[in-house]
Amino acid sequence: MTISKRFYNTIQVLSIMNSKLSKQEIQNKIKEIFSNNPSPKQIKKAKALASSKNIKLTNYKKKFCKKCLTFFHSKNHETRIKKPLKIIRCKSCNCISRYKL
Ligand SMILES: [Zn+2]
Repeated sequence: MTISKRFYNTIQVLSIMNSKLSKQEIQNKIKEIFSNNPSPKQIKKAKALASSKNIKLTNYKKKFCKKCLTFFHSKNHETRIKKPLKIIRCKSCNCISRYKL
C-alpha cells in the first residue's frame, strides 16, 4: 500500500515537472520555497523541481537534513568545525553530514 502511494506521489511530481515552466521560473519557485521555513514535504518538492531542470541545490543543500529533510534553524541542529570539515548533526534524526570547508 505504501509503495503504491509513493508511486502515486512520484507521478504527481512528474506531472508538475511536465507542466511547461522555464528554468528561471523553477529557480524562483525553489528560492520562494526555501525562503519561508519549508516543511520536509516542500523540500522534497523543491528537490524534484530542481532535478527536473538539472538545477543544482548547492546553496541550499546545507540548509536541510539529507535524511529526514527537516529545514535547519538555530535549535534543531548542531554545528561543529573539525578541520578541514564542517560537521552538522540533525537533532531530530541524529544524521551527521560533513562538508569540506
Ligand atoms: Zn535529520
